[in-house]
Amino acid sequence: MKFSKFANRFNSRSGIVQLMDDLGSALSGSNDILMLGGGNPGHIPEIQNYLHKRLQEILDDHAEFSHIIGDYDPPRGEQKFISALVDLLQREYGWDIGPDNIALTAGSQAGFFYLFNMFGGDFGADTCKQIMFPMTPEYIGYADVGLVDNLFTAYRPEIEILDDHLFKYHINFNDLELSENIGAMCVSRPTNPTGNVLTDDEISHLLEIAGHKKIPLIVDSAYGLPFPNIIFTDAKPFWTENIIICMSLSKLGMPGVRTGIIIANPDVISAITNMNAVLSLALGSFGPALTTELISSGEVINLSNNVIKPFYQEKAKRAVELFKTHLDGIEYYIHKPEGAIFLWLWFPGLPVTSEELYQRLKKKGVLVISGHHFFPGLQEAWPHMHECIRVTYSMQPETVEQGIKLIADEIRQIYTELSS
Ligand code: PLP
Repeated sequence: MKFSKFANRFNSRSGIVQLMDDLGSALSGSNDILMLGGGNPGHIPEIQNYLHKRLQEILDDHAEFSHIIGDYDPPRGEQKFISALVDLLQREYGWDIGPDNIALTAGSQAGFFYLFNMFGGDFGADTCKQIMFPMTPEYIGYADVGLVDNLFTAYRPEIEILDDHLFKYHINFNDLELSENIGAMCVSRPTNPTGNVLTDDEISHLLEIAGHKKIPLIVDSAYGLPFPNIIFTDAKPFWTENIIICMSLSKLGMPGVRTGIIIANPDVISAITNMNAVLSLALGSFGPALTTELISSGEVINLSNNVIKPFYQEKAKRAVELFKTHLDGIEYYIHKPEGAIFLWLWFPGLPVTSEELYQRLKKKGVLVISGHHFFPGLQEAWPHMHECIRVTYSMQPETVEQGIKLIADEIRQIYTELSS
């Protein structure tokens, strides 16, 4: 069967398709694979208990249940949820925002599809704008959402080598070129895949550049502030007229309800609302229904700071310890884990590509993600891209432990093959 160019853009070679395929089959329980590849959040008992209780309340309240299941929400998203979030952001951070500054999307992934194709692409009169990632590695899910070719441009980071097998990426501000065809900049903070948290200075500097160029800075806060706040360093949230903040309920522990949140100036919000209406009519009601009370009471901040953050911080610490034990004697670096739910490992001079390593590990029963997928928009060849892997530590401790051991064994095996 022949499909249009539009359909062929979503081809199965895309990194995110491979990733979600692997994730789906590993979590369907159909095989014994150790899934250290996906971005699935952990199942945190306190969060699941809260949601279970709240869902039961909905089931027990006939009027509420019949409204949630039986009525369409408005295309901007459920009003009470939006009001609760506005109040929280005003209270916690003193942000000068109102309900016109927020729209929901069917997961934040859909929000990036909207935003990137709104600020990048065909602007008429032979102008085609791009979305710029000031620093790669960046989130694999951005790579294939463009409706035009070459939607993205990106830069390599500066690498700071730290003690104890750690390193950290920084934005290389000297290299950034803000030509007229850049429609927006985007960063994830914390960054998927590296666990980097851009410093307040880096964000201020980007905002200054964006303000000067009159373009927005899109900050993907899927793991960040104000919730789920999986950030292990000091980081402050930012709000200005030209920032667009994307949040999600997924990493609070609810990827199943597909609720993304965009906070931006009212023009952007109104465009997003129209897209929602055209593409989906309305959004799913369950995410807002389950969490409005959590947000209006402020309990979401408490759970983020005192349950979710420590849950992942402890896991990050344990995963680093395990790698340090099992990789002893091998040349490797781990990106300083400052947030999110991943470790990013770099093996300088790795004798196979990270894609080959991924394939070898898959055969051994452990899934990771090859680093080369995380450089959307980077045009130049860079060996570093093929020397890194992303490992998720959100799963059960036994899974993570066995997976890390298998990864280390395979890398040792690669070096042994080379020397024999
Ligand atoms: N942004 C980042 C950095 C992510 O890691 C993810 C998912 O893993 C998303 C956005 C999309 O999340 P969702 O569509 O579940 O809200």
